[in-house]
Amino acid sequence: MADIPFHLAGVRTRIEAACKAVGRDPASVHLLAVSKTRPAEDVAAAHAAGQIAFGENYVQEAVNKIQTLSHLLLEWHLIGPLQSNKTAEVAEWFDWVHSVDRLKIAQRLSSQRPQGSKPLNVCIQVNIDDEDSKSGCRPEEAEALALAVLALPNLRLRGLMTIPRPGNPAALALLAELRNRLLANIPALSPAGFDTLSMGMSDDLEAAIAAGSTMVRVGTAIFGERVKQVQEPGLT
Ligand SMILES: *Cc1c(COP(=O)(O)O)cnc(C)c1O
Repeated sequence: MADIPFHLAGVRTRIEAACKAVGRDPASVHLLAVSKTRPAEDVAAAHAAGQIAFGENYVQEAVNKIQTLSHLLLEWHLIGPLQSNKTAEVAEWFDWVHSVDRLKIAQRLSSQRPQGSKPLNVCIQVNIDDEDSKSGCRPEEAEALALAVLALPNLRLRGLMTIPRPGNPAALALLAELRNRLLANIPALSPAGFDTLSMGMSDDLEAAIAAGSTMVRVGTAIFGERVKQVQEPGLT
C-alpha cells in the first residue's frame, strides 16, 4: 500500500491526541504495527517511516518475513495464539510474545530460547471478558501463571495483554486493575519491569489509552484492510 507513511503518521497523531486528552505522556504509549498477512515490502515501508516494532500472528509467515528483513533492525512481537509445536521457532526468532496463556508454553519458550540470546519478553494474555474465545487465561489464573513465569530463566515478564470483545470498553479497565492487583500481590514485580499493558487496536486505541494501555497493536489503520486469510489462528 502506497500510503503507509501517511497512515502511520495519522496513527501517531491519534496516539498523541489520545494521550493529551487524558494527560498522559505520549512517550508512555508504544505503537506496535501489526503486519500479519502483509508482504515484507510493507514492513520495510513502515520501517523507512520510522517504525521499529511489528506484530505478527502466524509463525511461519512471520519467520519468513523476519529472515527476509534481517538486514533491518526490527523488533518482532508474536501476538497470535501459540501452539506448543511452534514454540522453538518463536523462541529463536521473536523478541516478544504477547500470547502466553499457559505454563507449558512459557516453559517451552524459556528452555528453547537459544544460548546467548537476550531473555524473551513475554506478556500473559488474559481472557478478560470473552467467554467464547479459547485464547487467554482466566483473570483468576493470572497471578499463579505470573509467579511461574517469573521463575523461568530465559523469559522476562513484561505485562498483560488482552483482546476484549468488540464494544466492551469496560474490559480495558479490568485489565489495568488486574495489573495493579498483580503488582500489589507479587513482591518480585515492579512497575518499572512489569510495565506493559498490551491493549487497543485500530478501532479502540483511544479508549485503550484512556484506560492505561502502554502498547497499542494497530494493523488496519496503518496497512489498510486485510484480505481474508484461509489460515486459521489454530494453525499458527
Ligand atoms: C490483527 C490483530 C490486531 C490488529 O487489529 P486491527 O484492527 O487491524 O488494528 C491487534 N491485535 C491482535 C491480537 C490481532 O490479531
